[in-house]
Amino acid sequence: MNTGIWDGENWELEQKAHWKKQEAIAREQRRAVRRKKRRRKMWGDLFLTFLFVLGCLGIGYWAIGQQGAGGNGQSVFAQALAGQDLSGEETDALLLVNRWNPLPEGYVPDLVEVPGGEKVAKEAYAPLMEMLQQAEAEGLGPQVVSGWRTQEKQQSLYDNKIGEYLSQGYSQKDAVAAAEEWVAKPGTSEHQLGLAVDINGNSYDIYTWLQENSWRYGFIFRYPGDKQSLTGVAEEVWHYRYVGKEAAEVIHSQGLCLEEYAEQQK
Ligand SMILES: [Zn+2]
Repeated sequence: MNTGIWDGENWELEQKAHWKKQEAIAREQRRAVRRKKRRRKMWGDLFLTFLFVLGCLGIGYWAIGQQGAGGNGQSVFAQALAGQDLSGEETDALLLVNRWNPLPEGYVPDLVEVPGGEKVAKEAYAPLMEMLQQAEAEGLGPQVVSGWRTQEKQQSLYDNKIGEYLSQGYSQKDAVAAAEEWVAKPGTSEHQLGLAVDINGNSYDIYTWLQENSWRYGFIFRYPGDKQSLTGVAEEVWHYRYVGKEAAEVIHSQGLCLEEYAEQQK
């Protein structure tokens, strides 16, 4: 106890020191509160930044997902299919056309344009779009490079092919025979039926895929190499013929060509 020994000055000094100390404590407390606030704000900001980045990533993934889905849903072949009126007369999917069986005179099918500008018979259109859509989804880059041909178009292809062989020194007779292995004589080409398509892709894989899967859509690998004596045409890996799903399945599973199948059906 400080009793009786302090004078006014001492008391004042002690009081001042006391208040100074109190003020210092209060200041320190305020500083501590401010530091705490700053830290809290920093963590808050970090958290918001984190949320923002997370949100951006989420939106990015969503957009990519949408694009992927759009890639399928809005495929050029799917769009082409959606936009067509396919009602109307059906052509004869099983009509056999080869060098021994010409087309009916003046035959012109009911035609629909496919992406890329070629045309096919209405009957083959939807299955073709479905097949190409699947091939596209598998990254094969399918493309119809030749569909329906007019008599004139077939004639010009035929004449050009004969010309090629003539220029290589073949006799007229030999040039015609050689050309006919590759280009059907006008009036005997399946392309004039509108039921045949020549398909290309971004690699040879498209042909392997078509040989394994085209039957599911009603198409057949029309000119296998080992059937040349029956089809009259050299192997063409790009040429597919629509025959309908039922026939395609039999032809595929039994390893037939269309000539053999037609014979079986008699
Ligand atoms: Zn062809």
